[in-house]
Amino acid sequence: MKIFEEIESEVQSYARSFPRVFNKAQGEYLYDTEGNQYLDFLAGAGTLNYGHNNPIFKKELLKYIESDGITHGLDLHTNAKGNFLNTFNDKILKPRNMDYMVQFTGPTGANAVETAMKLARKIKQRETIISFTNGYHGVTLGALASTGNQHHRGGAGMLLTGVDTLPYDGYMGDDIDTTAYLDKVLTDSSSGVDHPAAIIVETVQGEGGITAASFSWLQNIEKICKKHDILLIVDDIQAGCGRTGTFFSFDEVGIQPDIITMSKSLSGYGLPFAIVLFKPEHDIWKPGEHNGTFRGNNLAFVTAEAAINHYWSDDLFSKEVKRKGKYMYDRINKIIDQYGEGNFSSRGRGMFQGINCVSGELASKITKLAFKNGLMIETSGADDHVIKFLCPLTISDQNLKRGIDILEDAIETVCAKVKNFDEEVDYFDENYEVEEE
Ligand SMILES: *Cc1c(COP(=O)(O)O)cnc(C)c1O
Repeated sequence: MKIFEEIESEVQSYARSFPRVFNKAQGEYLYDTEGNQYLDFLAGAGTLNYGHNNPIFKKELLKYIESDGITHGLDLHTNAKGNFLNTFNDKILKPRNMDYMVQFTGPTGANAVETAMKLARKIKQRETIISFTNGYHGVTLGALASTGNQHHRGGAGMLLTGVDTLPYDGYMGDDIDTTAYLDKVLTDSSSGVDHPAAIIVETVQGEGGITAASFSWLQNIEKICKKHDILLIVDDIQAGCGRTGTFFSFDEVGIQPDIITMSKSLSGYGLPFAIVLFKPEHDIWKPGEHNGTFRGNNLAFVTAEAAINHYWSDDLFSKEVKRKGKYMYDRINKIIDQYGEGNFSSRGRGMFQGINCVSGELASKITKLAFKNGLMIETSGADDHVIKFLCPLTISDQNLKRGIDILEDAIETVCAKVKNFDEEVDYFDENYEVEEE
């Protein structure tokens, strides 16, 4: 369709990887206007953990809309919000002995991150926050300062301040414990690293290339925070809501962050929704001090409540995610052994898995060919060199297998052609040509 080239900004990104016009979606399937069916292993970049148009949530949503329930409510107390809070408290917080306040922020992940950082600075009366290499926390200025990627940082057009970046788990190789370095620079009054208000961390880095931190590394981070009187912010926007196998990605790590950000799959339906959780003693906001018109997406409250009720009332869903995650891990490692020639690697958790192809060009050739064969899958990482598996957690076993089969075939084809020094391979008919940057 011409209109996208005519008046939609050059800033488009995913649309470039998947240059079709889509018009329908259900569960793990997406359809384009020509009737082609795709298996969706992108799932709204981790926003559709329960699949597209999940029928259970859709029923609740339609009922609510039909009854003229509140759609927009600023931060007014509404039935829908009260029901969400009750369910979230009973099914998520209480069973985990988590004593947290809930703040409704503007509906994007970046909004939640900005809120968390602002609150941490306000509590500790210190300016800086420590983030980690390859971290991704959004692209508004405050959040962007804590995001590693130069491509994104470059868009700021001004200094990104108030954040010091330190090495994430594994950044210096498997043998080096980067928490020792962190503790050292915080202990040494001459290190040049200012005493921060908070440390912000993803337990598994999503956009940074599907890198899971070890439990002991995360536990050390918490210890260091306590030792140096620093707040711990876990950004669970992508890793949370079941992606790693548990509702919070740190459920089995044994840490208690001071502040937690959530968004992406929180509404369950792809509706914009974000919250920040913090320990009650940190609730030092003055009324209305932090604000936002769209803090009350009541449609999202309805679907989020349905998601928690349906999937998180017991541990069956969690077990399913872990089982499927194990299958993905096994398949991915077999693929790596067979085609990676010692170069490829994987480092995810649960159904948050990736294949590090080392080369962005190679990863892109593989995902393009996979798309041609009916699998929608994206890359992430510094050079877009990691193939990122983000299929809905609700995917059937059969489709999970089929998606990985398509990817494996693509890897086999691309690796064979690369080996044959057949550099100018054209995998695509005209329609599929994507303009190279
Ligand atoms: C996507 C993401 C964000 C930003 O969320 P937006 O809704 O795009 O602003 C922040 N942190 C993490 C870990 C994310 O994956």
